[in-house]
Amino acid sequence: MSSVGSPWNDPIPIGKISEPPFVRLPDPNTLFKARAARFRLLCDGHTLAPYLQLLALLSDIEHRLQDGLAEPEMPARDAIEQAREFGMPPLDRSSFTADVAFNATLNRLLTLARDIDMPEPAHAALARTTSAQAAARDAMVRAVLTDAIPVEALADHLFMAAALQVHFARRAARLDGRLVPVGDGACPACAAPPVSSAVVGWPGAENTRFCVCSLCGTLWNYVRIKCTLCGSTKGITYRQVEQSDGLVRAETCDTCRGYVKILQQQENPALDPVADDVATLALDLLLRDLGYRRGAVDPFLLGY
Ligand SMILES: [Zn+2]
Ligand SMILES: [Zn+2]
Repeated sequence: MSSVGSPWNDPIPIGKISEPPFVRLPDPNTLFKARAARFRLLCDGHTLAPYLQLLALLSDIEHRLQDGLAEPEMPARDAIEQAREFGMPPLDRSSFTADVAFNATLNRLLTLARDIDMPEPAHAALARTTSAQAAARDAMVRAVLTDAIPVEALADHLFMAAALQVHFARRAARLDGRLVPVGDGACPACAAPPVSSAVVGWPGAENTRFCVCSLCGTLWNYVRIKCTLCGSTKGITYRQVEQSDGLVRAETCDTCRGYVKILQQQENPALDPVADDVATLALDLLLRDLGYRRGAVDPFLLGY
């Protein structure tokens, strides 16, 4: 496996401080490349191997399509300042409007995805998304951005979600990193919920935990042994499937009966918040049997 740089930027020289930074912005130049590599590694002997392989190819496309892409539109500087002042996310997903860069991102992704070797239902979903008219595409964007993807159309929204991930990661990467908390379970950049969380091993932040945005890939610091969904510190338990290596566990909360996965990245930096979430579907099935609600969002986790 070829090595790539860290998928997250350092907005602050963290070697010079003793406290972890509140946020780490994504680096879209490495984020999707590293994810593709992780998906490939997870394929080995996995019952979901064909699907993980498809997502590896889709992640490759998310990386490749950025070459020469137009600059995404950003809010005005004073709007970003105002958002900070009022504890609001500067790239609030609910106020998203498509710009030239997003339309190019989506069109490139849909074109490149035609070459992916995938099962017929996925090809049909791609064809439907490609031929969708503007109003239908807008509805798909809204469904992804409000976590309201219809169960019967999960595959159709896969490509739209991938394009939105790229676009929001590119926008988040252009922020200056001076973000403020906007509430439990919400990304300080775009307000989307976490896909998972990770205990990291970066110098200056060892063994601290970060939530990972399901949309823009921003990481935000969040204390450990605390529900990332409701903020409760009571009744927190860590669960894993039998015979797992324990690197991906579920942090369950008895206050809200929800859970979000927690990755031990300090033990294996290659763990990816999205790829390892998809690859541990068995853990979600266990938690469902135990009566816990999945609080994380991951449009790649089909069939859950
Ligand atoms: Zn975000
Ligand atoms: Zn909770």
